Amino acid sequence: MQAIVLRIGELFLKGRNRHLFERQLERNLRCTLRSLGGWQVSLGHGRVFVLGPEATAAEATRRLAGTFGIASLSRATLCPEDIDAIQSAAVDLARGAAERGARSFAVATRRPKKSFPQKSGEVNVRVGKAIEEATGMPVDLDRPDLTVSIEIGHERTFVCGEKVAGAGGLPVGSSGTAMLLLSGGIDSPVAGWLAQKRGLRLQAIYFHSFPHTGDRAREKVVDLARILAGSQCGMKLWVVPFASIQEALQGGAPGRQLVLLYRRMMVRIAEAHARREGCEALVTGDSLGQVASQTLANLACVEKVATLPLLRPLIAYDKAETVKLARRIGTFEKSSEPAEDCCSLFVPSFPETRGRPVVLDDIEKAFPIAAWTETRGEPMTA
Ligand code: ATP
Ligand code: MG
Repeated sequence: MQAIVLRIGELFLKGRNRHLFERQLERNLRCTLRSLGGWQVSLGHGRVFVLGPEATAAEATRRLAGTFGIASLSRATLCPEDIDAIQSAAVDLARGAAERGARSFAVATRRPKKSFPQKSGEVNVRVGKAIEEATGMPVDLDRPDLTVSIEIGHERTFVCGEKVAGAGGLPVGSSGTAMLLLSGGIDSPVAGWLAQKRGLRLQAIYFHSFPHTGDRAREKVVDLARILAGSQCGMKLWVVPFASIQEALQGGAPGRQLVLLYRRMMVRIAEAHARREGCEALVTGDSLGQVASQTLANLACVEKVATLPLLRPLIAYDKAETVKLARRIGTFEKSSEPAEDCCSLFVPSFPETRGRPVVLDDIEKAFPIAAWTETRGEPMTA
């Protein structure tokens, strides 16, 4: 069996709500490990103890490192409740770390089990001396390269060493739920990931203009949704038929205003889905000034038709920063595959950059906006 210790990050800041965050985290961890089989999760004292079969430990570690709400993780060695066994496990861990470049260390012992014969201070000194002798590393209590943590608990005793950074953030679901407007582009999946990072559980909605946008465009979005679903144990994706609305707008509205009219319809339909599904906000991949449709005036025109909060996690991101993050989270390649984009359908080369809500309201009077808003998407599970 392999043990892994996870340290909880920002959850400490949450005061009285802390147990709710912890419970959500525990559910998320169980869910992400379930399909591996044989893994147990137990929570306490600002950390989570996870135990499971050696054979799937590498995959478990990968999944845990991607789970929001975890500051750092370490593989741990379970020991008999005995000072010599603890010491030898600690020395082994420290030797490995020294070989990988650690140059100083500290020992930190927690001893909830008060009947253990040595006090935590004595354990620190004794194990510290043994590590110094075995590795030649000096003790540095202020900024050690390696902290060897020892826990002598009621249920188990273990030692852990090198830390791997966790994904940070808050457990998905602890901040509520939101509807992500997911296109096949680079930005919206990254926006979704950032929303998840701050504890939002997502559903996604995609506007599909078949046959102007083909099956491949839809498949791409399904694949992207699947990547985001990995952070939250499954996700609902709504695929909304959008061609007839776009065609009608194209037939009767000024070309320069089309993108804004499309966007406003997307937001209205997304909001209707969000309300039916109990989502509390919308999320888009907009970034200020990135393209003509994302000038401040145009963002304002689109936002005007939403009554739920419209969150734009990438608002201050440069494209290069978004691309970098997209690569890290594994969506970049998929987003870069060629496919049609419905927002460019029928749009002239010089679209409006200073949209005005009154102008759009006026144009929309000629169209069945309320009926269109009720357009239902087809649900899929990603
Ligand atoms: P992305 O890379 O996410 O497509 P973008 O920079 O290309 O973003 P736009 O295509 O102008 O920007 O779209 C802005 C936002 O509007 C997107 O990030 C997305 O949230 C939403 N959006 C655009 N097209 C669609 C669509 N077909 N279905 C769902 N949402 C969409
Ligand atoms: Mg796009």
